[in-house]
Amino acid sequence: MSDHTPPAPIADRARALETVLKKKQLVPERHTADFTHTAEEEWSAKNGAMVVAKAWKSPEYRSRLLDNGTSACAELGFEGPQGEYIVALEDTPSLHNLIVCTLCSCTAWPVLGLPPDWYKSFEYRARVVRESRTVLHEMGLDIPEDVEIRVSDTTAETRYMVLPCQPEGTEGWSEAALAALITQDVLIGVALPKTE
Ligand code: FE
Repeated sequence: MSDHTPPAPIADRARALETVLKKKQLVPERHTADFTHTAEEEWSAKNGAMVVAKAWKSPEYRSRLLDNGTSACAELGFEGPQGEYIVALEDTPSLHNLIVCTLCSCTAWPVLGLPPDWYKSFEYRARVVRESRTVLHEMGLDIPEDVEIRVSDTTAETRYMVLPCQPEGTEGWSEAALAALITQDVLIGVALPKTE
């Protein structure tokens, strides 16, 4: 750009783009509304939460999930774009997994939903690889020094989800109660399941 006009806010740019595409008749009728509905209602971290809860309850499901994340998520009906190659990363007491897309903003849409804004920020993408422990601390998560942090960078078609350790004291809980502990942040690895 030759001048120094700041770029318009994202919503304005999206609206401008939509107007032009409609004018050129490149957007089928209802496409935007349908896509928005799917993105907001169907692609949700609540799905990933159900996957984690089931994996905590069922050792058989857990091993299927770790063996083939895509088909294990599809068992629960969670499949579709950006979910063709889902890999579940298993936390252990000595290993904490963390997800980033250093190139852009990829997440496994069917189980994590669309990425949050901070996940797309240049700062997160650049820093979490080099100083993950510090970035997590700044985000309110302190991982003990003796726990390894493994950062997985989304590549090509692979989309990750974190399978966290089940919190102590939740052994008898129902799947629904367990799922309620899992947020999108937990599935990305920047938070741990909280029981209170
Ligand atoms: Fe990306």
